[in-house]
Amino acid sequence: MITIPQPTLIPLKIQAKSYLPTDFGDFEMLAFSATDENWMPHLALVAKGTDLNATVNVRFHSECVTGEIFHSSKCECGAQLDEAMAYFQKHGGVLIYLRQEGRGIGLINKIRAYQLQQQGLDTIEANLHLGLPIDNRDFTIGITMLELLGIKKVNLLTNNPEKMRIFERSTISLMNRIPLEIKANKHSEGYLSVKKKQMGHLLKEVV
Ligand SMILES: [Zn+2]
Repeated sequence: MITIPQPTLIPLKIQAKSYLPTDFGDFEMLAFSATDENWMPHLALVAKGTDLNATVNVRFHSECVTGEIFHSSKCECGAQLDEAMAYFQKHGGVLIYLRQEGRGIGLINKIRAYQLQQQGLDTIEANLHLGLPIDNRDFTIGITMLELLGIKKVNLLTNNPEKMRIFERSTISLMNRIPLEIKANKHSEGYLSVKKKQMGHLLKEVV
């Protein structure tokens, strides 16, 4: 039987924080979870020098082990994460890293979907074939994390209008969108095309 991971229990709390030097520069890393027994807390990386009382550059980034750790060519997540971290070091900002692997269906189901894609289904058809939602992510978790950080106004690094709509129902003001486009390769062009045409992502470079 196929199961879908359940969303994190709310209310979230900041369970731990520490300085984190990286290849991109220095961040403060904060772990958010309802309890401190969670091995997979949501994370925030606050670039050194960011003024959380001003308009803050923010990215809501959902976990993608295949793209970020193993540098898979099937999606642009790894490159987007790197670009966002570099952007925040230059301009200030906060990366909100959400544990919503595989658009919220989890890694096992994502690998099942990849197998179906190998047989010719696209990313939406594969999820539907497995009886799973096309996108099961909950970006309101990100809003809660911004609230806990005391952030009131943001510029959002995204191509996804769904992430922008979340702010309409929140106390946090979305001031501007900052595009985060990554060039397609032969493995990712089909995926990016489905994102643009069927999921409404704002991708200028994709046909
Ligand atoms: Zn990915």
